[in-house]
Amino acid sequence: MGFRYKGYAGKYLDVDLDKGKVHIKDMEEEWALLYLGGTGISSKILWDRTGPETHPLSPDNILIVGTGPLTGSMFSPSGRFMFSGMSPQTGIWAESHSGGFFGPEMKYAGFDFIILNGRSPNPVYLYLNDGDAELKDASDMWGRETDTTTDMIREQHKDPSIETATIGPAGENGVLYGCIIVDYYRAAGRTGLGTVMGSKNVKAIAASGALGLEAHDMDAYLEANEEELAKVNDELWESSIASLRKYGTTDLVAMINEIGRLPTKNHWTGFYEDADDIGPEVIANKYRINQEACYGCGIGCKYVFRVKEGRFSRGPTGGPEYETLMAFGSNCLNNDIESIFHLGTRCDLLGMDTISAGKTIGFAMELWEKGIIDEEDTGGLDLSWGNVDAMIQLVEMIASREGFGELLSKGTRQAAKAIGNDAWKYAVHVKGLEASGQDPRAHQSVGLTYATNVRGADHLRSLSSLEELGYPEVINARFGKEKFEEISKITSPVHKGEVIKDIEDLYALVDSAVICKYGTMWPPIYYFDTFTNVIPPLTGMSQWGDPEFVRTAAERICHLRRAYNHRLGITREQETLPRRLLKEPMPTGPAKGGLPDLDYMLDEYYELRGCDKETGLPKKDKLRELGLEYVYHDLARRGMMQSY
Ligand code: SF4
Repeated sequence: MGFRYKGYAGKYLDVDLDKGKVHIKDMEEEWALLYLGGTGISSKILWDRTGPETHPLSPDNILIVGTGPLTGSMFSPSGRFMFSGMSPQTGIWAESHSGGFFGPEMKYAGFDFIILNGRSPNPVYLYLNDGDAELKDASDMWGRETDTTTDMIREQHKDPSIETATIGPAGENGVLYGCIIVDYYRAAGRTGLGTVMGSKNVKAIAASGALGLEAHDMDAYLEANEEELAKVNDELWESSIASLRKYGTTDLVAMINEIGRLPTKNHWTGFYEDADDIGPEVIANKYRINQEACYGCGIGCKYVFRVKEGRFSRGPTGGPEYETLMAFGSNCLNNDIESIFHLGTRCDLLGMDTISAGKTIGFAMELWEKGIIDEEDTGGLDLSWGNVDAMIQLVEMIASREGFGELLSKGTRQAAKAIGNDAWKYAVHVKGLEASGQDPRAHQSVGLTYATNVRGADHLRSLSSLEELGYPEVINARFGKEKFEEISKITSPVHKGEVIKDIEDLYALVDSAVICKYGTMWPPIYYFDTFTNVIPPLTGMSQWGDPEFVRTAAERICHLRRAYNHRLGITREQETLPRRLLKEPMPTGPAKGGLPDLDYMLDEYYELRGCDKETGLPKKDKLRELGLEYVYHDLARRGMMQSY
């Protein structure tokens, strides 16, 4: 009968890499209705197909590529898509999103989801074209950098419009934070899913499509889109996009340093004296030559830069985002902006997450400073703070897993374990994922975001900008005037459990739809009513017009991802922060003396989330309310639901 909801391509691919077979299947209606798309549907597939018995780099792990009903639709911005699987870096839930044009192209090629199973005996790439899909030989691409791979695929098909998602040598070589590079310089960066792809001998996925998408009621959908767009034409929006258009995310270097939250010297402090050297003005004035946008986006936050001369001279390419400027800049006390351009570009070409790479190098630099490692350990490299030459050598050595790079290719958690002594004290990660560019000692709710995040110390599942950037009307409307005073204080833990739970639910829908977080996070325009407004006319799923149904779906997705981690052993004990961010008061800068009150915020969060405060595990009634009885039965069978 086929798939009845619109806005979806209606098909997914189940790829058996062991046998080299590609199965085209109809999307399941229940997936769409209950989990929407993207991260939601991935959570259901991963729950069903992997578990504690799965090793992340074994053929049993799966790599899911997912779009959502809004991907490639006329909704702005709707160019995003995502990857999911079990992370080789953390051993738990993994997901990573990217912008660009690949996501819409994949849908126009006829597929909402791809599930890669098993391991191909030889290197292959998956080619999608107008409803067909086939595995093709990639032997001559293996070992190549990401730009060359994309060029080779386009050349092979004589089609320069093909969109690609490809891994580099890092993912092939088993670096635990190998990433997937999309359209040359956009990255699905975090949690090592490029290495999962590499472990399957899959070099790339390429898509070319001209199949259209249908809406259930096109006139009503266009009207709903106009209503949503009308919201973005106000002052709130204009002030935020002016900055994003002019500077992209580089603006965050200055903004975050100003409140003392910019990770500096391996998170020793949150204030970097040389921040101006790596910040928005110098980039905009000296290096930026163009601005780009993902599919269907009116903001265009991606900047293109050129270094005209000198050691790091380079033709036009996509510039490093805030997180890369932080990881290879302030985090390593490196104020040489041209070296950061170089390091960021090398990571893109090698297919390696810049946050984990930069953070792991910063960690090693602190061990060097403390005398925990020396030249004998590093093979003669001098890891003094800001030593650009050593950083450049290390990035190459990590990607090829040579010498000291082999140890750092495992990330801070495993490297600290192998080094021993007090190394663990300087490993700034949660659940094995290096912290992104925020410091909870300057911004209380960041502490809760990091601790509860399903993929580790990361900001993209529930970071709140409400109290940081000051949106009084939004805070009052969402949480009530009486809570405004405490919520708007970034140094207060009060009501932060409620704020983070609310934003986590919202982002679960954003990541399932799948759309960009700009417009949702900064500025906070789109909210739950956006989904009740646009999803029914687009898809025909009338239930999505009911606000309660939508809130329940968001909570269902959050609980299912959390349950996936519980089943792998995550409880309240692991939902914590690294010693530095929990026990060492901020030593300098505007946030001097700050420490997060994590226990207070966790208690409130668990209560509102419907979890047991002792363990962080979901309560039986909550799972039942969300239609997740199958989760309850599985956890109960494993003896994990007995404490209450
Ligand atoms: S705001 Fe930036 S990341 Fe988001 S869709 Fe637009 S260009 Fe892409």
